[in-house]
Amino acid sequence: MPYVIEQRRSCSGLEIGVTVEIIPDNDICGAHGACAMVDEDLFNLDDDGFIAIGDIVVVPAGKEEIAQRGVDACPLRALRIK
Ligand code: SF4
Repeated sequence: MPYVIEQRRSCSGLEIGVTVEIIPDNDICGAHGACAMVDEDLFNLDDDGFIAIGDIVVVPAGKEEIAQRGVDACPLRALRIK
């Protein structure tokens, strides 16, 4: 399921006004929890510790860089930005 960031300001090379999707690969996720350690609200985990992104989530203004850090923190690269 896509995880959407509505980009409102320039950061990390992302363009202003561009909607960015973070797409989790549930087959790759190994329940390390590194993404949720960056922000447990943006990277919601299920009871077993696996990424539980099932809905499109618009990241609040000002949290875009945190979302990027969460994606970058995944040791298995189970998250990507489209
Ligand atoms: S850091 Fe990666 S492997 Fe760990 S829970 Fe998050 S998506 Fe899954």
